[in-house]
Amino acid sequence: MSAENTQELVIGIPRGMSFYNHYPFWYGFFSSLGFKIILSDPTTKQTMSEGSALVVTETCLPIKIYLGHILNLIKKGVKNIFVPSLQSVAPKIYNCSKIRGLPDLVRNVVKGDFRIIEATLDKSAKNQGLYSFLQEAVRPFGITDFEAIKKASKQGWKVYNNFLVMMRAGMSYKKAINYALQGKVFIESQSNTAPINVALVSHGYNIYDDRACMKIFDKLEKMEVKVFTSLQLTDEQMEEGIASLGQHRYWANEYEMTGTAGHYLKDNKIDGIITLNAFGCGPDSLMIERITRKAKEAGKPLLSLTIDEHTGEAGFVTRLEAFIDMLFRKKRSKIINKIAMPEYDYVPQTNICENLLAADDSGVNKVK
Ligand code: SF4
Repeated sequence: MSAENTQELVIGIPRGMSFYNHYPFWYGFFSSLGFKIILSDPTTKQTMSEGSALVVTETCLPIKIYLGHILNLIKKGVKNIFVPSLQSVAPKIYNCSKIRGLPDLVRNVVKGDFRIIEATLDKSAKNQGLYSFLQEAVRPFGITDFEAIKKASKQGWKVYNNFLVMMRAGMSYKKAINYALQGKVFIESQSNTAPINVALVSHGYNIYDDRACMKIFDKLEKMEVKVFTSLQLTDEQMEEGIASLGQHRYWANEYEMTGTAGHYLKDNKIDGIITLNAFGCGPDSLMIERITRKAKEAGKPLLSLTIDEHTGEAGFVTRLEAFIDMLFRKKRSKIINKIAMPEYDYVPQTNICENLLAADDSGVNKVK
């Protein structure tokens, strides 16, 4: 590895957008090359309001939050902030325009003393693969040794795969990420079952940001609900899920939406589906429309929640509770209907009445 100055190997990563799915990879990659990684603080009300102030109201919440995290890193004095442009993650599979243009957006709306470390992943373009993306990410630091970059990439995949193994085995997101970053892999016993199973269909940046989703996992856990997400599924399962909705994959994050919903709609252990999307998200509004139609056909209950920076927690909880309550009632009535009635005809025991009739006025039974 040849770096111009090892003192400069510090990179800031905002806790937003692809962070929630890709951070284990970036952690392994940058650490292997000797970087110190500085993360922005977890999302707060301030992160949301400061980010929102930079863009027009119609912009989706995840982008507003992302901008708030950039501001947070600048306040921390971070000079190099990693803002990848994920154009296309597979041939002819694209991200939405906001994700594709993220570095341009940041450059145009955020003012401050920092440099954007911009790398472009565009697998629909010629000769553009993961290695060229990674080289572009570290070139501004003077790192050009291809072998070192390949080795770092391998380390990135190792951490990422460990994270996925634990997620697919049913571990909670926070635990899985913590273990993976420590280089550990644990498989927990999954004997714990819940009366209700729900599939939560959304993007990582919507559901793993506690502030954005108002701790939906904790809320559902308190209601005795077990939650399943896209991170428990393989790419093949999500591919099949998309096909089962009669669709082809076009959007990069379609795996998380139609792929996940399509898979869980066919899964009998799943009692209901919850979709959670950001207000103003074009791709999600199309995908949720398809999911809703298919859920209706399949007779699977579905709750569609929309979030923005003004979403009130009380209303959010009320809708969640009402939906879960309905799932409990539905499950209870299914169980009651399944209870077998005796097959013989019921004949009342009339002799008890006859004995009573035979009693005289004094109540003494004359029947021997
Ligand atoms: S996919 Fe939707 S929520 Fe995500 S960045 Fe694009 S518009 Fe926003």
